[in-house]
Amino acid sequence: MSEYRLLIDGKMVDGDQTMAVLNPATEEVLAQCPRASKAQLDQAVAAAKAAFPAWAATPIEARRKLVLKMADVIEANSGDLARLLTSEQGKPLADATFEVMGMAGFFRYLASLDLPMKVIEDSNDRRVEAHRRPLGVVGAIIPWNYPLLILSFKLPLALLAGNTLIVKPAPTTPLSTLKFAELIVDILPKGVLNIITDANDLGDAMTRHPDIRKISFTGSTATGQKVMASAAATLKRITLELGGNDASIVLDDADPKKVAPGIFEGAFQNSGQVCLAIKRLYVHESIYDELCAELATLANNAVVDDGLKQGTKLGPLQNKMQYEKVKGFLDAARKDGNIIAGGAAMDRPGYFIQPTIVRDIKEGSKLVDEEQFGPVLPVIKYSDSEDVIRRANATNYGLGGSVWSSDTERAHKVASRMEAGTVWINKHLDMAPHIPFGGAKQSGIGTEFAEEGLAEFTQLQIINAAR
Ligand code: NAD
Repeated sequence: MSEYRLLIDGKMVDGDQTMAVLNPATEEVLAQCPRASKAQLDQAVAAAKAAFPAWAATPIEARRKLVLKMADVIEANSGDLARLLTSEQGKPLADATFEVMGMAGFFRYLASLDLPMKVIEDSNDRRVEAHRRPLGVVGAIIPWNYPLLILSFKLPLALLAGNTLIVKPAPTTPLSTLKFAELIVDILPKGVLNIITDANDLGDAMTRHPDIRKISFTGSTATGQKVMASAAATLKRITLELGGNDASIVLDDADPKKVAPGIFEGAFQNSGQVCLAIKRLYVHESIYDELCAELATLANNAVVDDGLKQGTKLGPLQNKMQYEKVKGFLDAARKDGNIIAGGAAMDRPGYFIQPTIVRDIKEGSKLVDEEQFGPVLPVIKYSDSEDVIRRANATNYGLGGSVWSSDTERAHKVASRMEAGTVWINKHLDMAPHIPFGGAKQSGIGTEFAEEGLAEFTQLQIINAAR
């Protein structure tokens, strides 16, 4: 039996089966978790479909109030949620607390948005109005790196817009989402929000489901391609937030000492398991040795341990599959470059890998060409400022990027030529709910949060009246 339950049709219910969830810092079973069957997915969709007409007809002010109530509940329970998040995801408790408070902040800001009707023309010939209508039942599919924060990118907007929702977290990090479900179960009318958990086997059924009108998906590019293909049969709306291989370019006028901490944070936050982390660092030859040495010192000084221990800077990788994958990238580092910090998995239980800096490496190595999604950073030397832009863009990904320089105007010129949805200058990984976010090329389709994100949870309807 599990102490956690699914949320279906306003009730907390057992899964038809259970599955174990591990603590990645110990590899011990943290809890048994419900595992929904396909029949339970169908029940959740039927409940959401039945709840839709009344929810869509509820005034937006009333829907807004309920989303804000959920933000209050998240804040009031932030301590418990953060501890649970660390225990299942691995990140340090301070970062988990930041994620939970960020979740509440996203709920609050996104709940404040509006869907005003726009008059396109009001003339002697006609009156044309543009309305934003809800779509119906929406499915939200979430990955394991930021289970609560990524939920907060989707849930408030989907519900505010008048849709009803099915949420499916990743199988290795379902607990904090189910805890959230338990905390807010009495806030919404039944069926408006349903939360189910699976063993990686219901995502496809969700994306094919004839009664789901839109899928908002965050995860890998490979799975995103499957989502797009299976959504085609019912022509579902899709928003895809996918993988990245973000390049960061350090110009010759940057001060290595000054930029190193921000670059380290941008690459090693959440042990590198961030879609928008710095995954390839290009450094001008004139400051290459100095910046490599600064980064190696930061990596050597970073405390790697159980996220529940005070002082931990980097927790474990989230799951065994990712841990094994990152060990493969360490092999590439040994073969294709010079490791100047870290370089190995840690000899202890848990999926721990030392923060690793790799220099004298270039394109052609899988550590540079592919998304490592772990704490291993390749530092690549360049000499020509035109050539480095070409190399940064020579990837199918286009999620984020950054430029570091003491001359902001110069950095701007480089930033504007990077093929990425977000480019930062002298920072990396700065996100907020009022700043739209989305990927270029194979890093995604569509936009999340801000007004643009809200629009994606709606159907544009034109009413064109004769005079
Ligand atoms: P994943 O693609 O393996 O899984 C993501 C989710 O999809 C999980 O809930 C999983 O159960 C579900 N899923 C699995 N098969 C499915 C299918 N056929 N149809 C529908 N859903 C299915 O990704 P992951 O390993 O959990 O996450 C890591 C990846 O996510 C990295 O590539 C990372 O860059 C990316 N990511 C992107 C963003 C972004 O906003 N762009 C944010 C976080 C993570």
